[in-house]
Amino acid sequence: MTITKATNKSLLERRKAVLPTGLGVAFPIFAAHAKNSEVWDVEGNRYIDFVGGISVLNTGHSHPKITQRVHEQLDKFTHTAAQMINYECYVELAEKLCEKAPISGDKKALFLTTGAEAVENCIKIARAKTGRPGIISFVGGWHGRTLMCMGLTGKVIPYKKDFGPMPGSIFHALFPAEEHNVTEEQALHSLDMIFQASIDPSEVAAMIIEPVQGEGGFHQVTPSFAKALRAICDEHGIVLIFDEVQCGFARTGTLFATEQLGVEPDLMTCAKSLAGGYPISAVIGRKDIMDAPQTGGLGGTYSGNPLACVAALAVMEVIEEENLLARSIEIGDKIAAFLTDMQLSKIGHIRHKGAMLAFELIDSEGNPDAAATAELKVKSFEHGLLLASCGMHGNAIRIMVPLTVEEEVLQEGLDIIKTLLTA
Ligand code: PMP
Repeated sequence: MTITKATNKSLLERRKAVLPTGLGVAFPIFAAHAKNSEVWDVEGNRYIDFVGGISVLNTGHSHPKITQRVHEQLDKFTHTAAQMINYECYVELAEKLCEKAPISGDKKALFLTTGAEAVENCIKIARAKTGRPGIISFVGGWHGRTLMCMGLTGKVIPYKKDFGPMPGSIFHALFPAEEHNVTEEQALHSLDMIFQASIDPSEVAAMIIEPVQGEGGFHQVTPSFAKALRAICDEHGIVLIFDEVQCGFARTGTLFATEQLGVEPDLMTCAKSLAGGYPISAVIGRKDIMDAPQTGGLGGTYSGNPLACVAALAVMEVIEEENLLARSIEIGDKIAAFLTDMQLSKIGHIRHKGAMLAFELIDSEGNPDAAATAELKVKSFEHGLLLASCGMHGNAIRIMVPLTVEEEVLQEGLDIIKTLLTA
């Protein structure tokens, strides 16, 4: 019998036959193995990974410490359903996150499986606490693909079109971003308009915002805007939720991006790099709010899986032991300087908080150049570098390289970008 080795092409054909078109894929390869910031496909080709599993791998692929902890847990038990039988690592992770979360006073934490589930649970908790229906989110914000999260998300194509009707009582305010010509004053005015035209603030349960927009283009909330939102929420008894799913867990140079805002949310989400690739998400928040839903109202069969809990505990150790907060700042500054030094007119805004960095490509008239961005992604892939984009106009490249990246690998990736942009 001859055994045919799978190739990327043969696997893609099999994929096409059984997977729906709606599930896109950025790169026409199949992973065989991966280590820190490098991935090898089934044909043995090697790629530098600046995508990091969409911001999940701040501690890199297969970090030995995380892998070892998961192995140890695998041999003990892998699932009991946390609502049926307790296990210590769930409680320990909650203790650690409550200790670290930038919210003062008594806190509690709840674990779910995906970022979207964490967002959904924030909304349930806020509604239970306030007895109100309304939710305010922001244009360009991204909160997940479930029905409620899709409604909260502030971008229609490809996330909302054809999937309606959207859930009710959601209203989108403007997000202030210089690149979109929206000032903080205009954004606050748009909130005021919502309160006048659509829903009275006394009927709003929560306001949800990302401290740094992820899919929306790495636009940052400023401390002054965060302070203004906090004041509005305090005035009207609205629960303020910060969605840290993408910007959290060391990406911005602090464990949570919120720490740089000087404002405390009432509830916050985290997921993605929380457990370095094992599926777990969290809601952390003020005790009085977290305890609002009745017993049995929160949870999920797989929520807070023990393998993911021990992985998250290991991630927190790795962040500390390997100084990843400082490294995040170093990486962000290095990439920003590298891009600036190229002095290319086709590079537009470069924005970053720590290593949460995106740069825009613009045409000769200064307009967003989505075609050049798509071309850079294709060409960089051909040169062995994986890049992803983001932003309302699809013209921003976002760098999500592991914070554990070796200096040489980081430089090699940046040199590929330079070669392609200066060609
Ligand atoms: N919130 C934010 C800010 C995100 O970036 C994402 C994922 N990109 C989500 C929520 C949803 O997370 P998940 O895909 O794990 O459901």
